[in-house]
Amino acid sequence: MKQTTASARRVTRKASTPAAIPAAAPTTATPAPADEGMLPVAAGRWGPRASALRDANPRTLAGQTALRLRQDIIRNEFSAGERLTNEKLAERYGVGTSPLREALFQVAGEGLVLVEDHKGFVVAPLSREEMLDVSSLRAYLEIHALRQSIASGDEEWETAVLVADHRLKSADARLLKATPDNLKAAKDEWERRHRDFHYALCSACGSPWLLHFFDTLYDQLERYRRHLWRYGERARGADDQHDEIGQAALARDADAATALLAEHFRRQAELTIAEEPQLKQRGSAGAARPALERSTGAAKPESALVAKRVNGARRRAA
Ligand SMILES: [Zn+2]
Repeated sequence: MKQTTASARRVTRKASTPAAIPAAAPTTATPAPADEGMLPVAAGRWGPRASALRDANPRTLAGQTALRLRQDIIRNEFSAGERLTNEKLAERYGVGTSPLREALFQVAGEGLVLVEDHKGFVVAPLSREEMLDVSSLRAYLEIHALRQSIASGDEEWETAVLVADHRLKSADARLLKATPDNLKAAKDEWERRHRDFHYALCSACGSPWLLHFFDTLYDQLERYRRHLWRYGERARGADDQHDEIGQAALARDADAATALLAEHFRRQAELTIAEEPQLKQRGSAGAARPALERSTGAAKPESALVAKRVNGARRRAA
């Protein structure tokens, strides 16, 4: 239990097996036949790096600048649509043109910055449509990943979920008691631990590519949350759901866990949209549910059904 969440991520990811895409993914370190022209790849060592590794002290100036720029956009230090001029960024980050451009293109590749003709780099706009799109895709991927993790996750994965759940509950309690003086620190902690919890659920899915897209999509939704939410109230509403999802996952009840996770995404999207009239463009609070139901195509949203499944999972786990 002394293991940090970051190291738990690495252990869990390393220990996972590529069960998500069995037809194409290598499952052992055995070299591929020479006539296939493939390099030998160890299990879990292929694909892009997840944020647990991406964000751990980037070695280059461009990487460090990209990390700061990404965080600043997610935390709404810049306005949506704001031009990111060389002068402005050089002064803010204290770096030259070359690492700055590399950082900008890196963050543009994640969809947080756009490159526009005659304008250069601008902060990506915010819209209801995008928020719903990202929510539904996150739900789709995480439901798939959770099901795979429940099937393949070992004791390391169970420990990672347990620790992340506990750490999120502690952050939630601190957020609810936060004063104006420490609200920002409490929000940052809650976001880190919230990401860790969702990542832990997915971490034994066996697909580094899925975990890569998890990071990209999580960054996007975190930006909306930070733009829209009154954190204390929202954390109170979400915490029970997290705990229930974690318990159902640890009980290896994939139907209950994925149904609860789908409901979690629907509820969060509805709350976000209902609360915020600032997001221009079309859409309404009522649009969230059908849009998310269409895209996840997984668990039924009825709360009674979900509750019944979770209660069953708890009885079996007892
Ligand atoms: Zn959540």
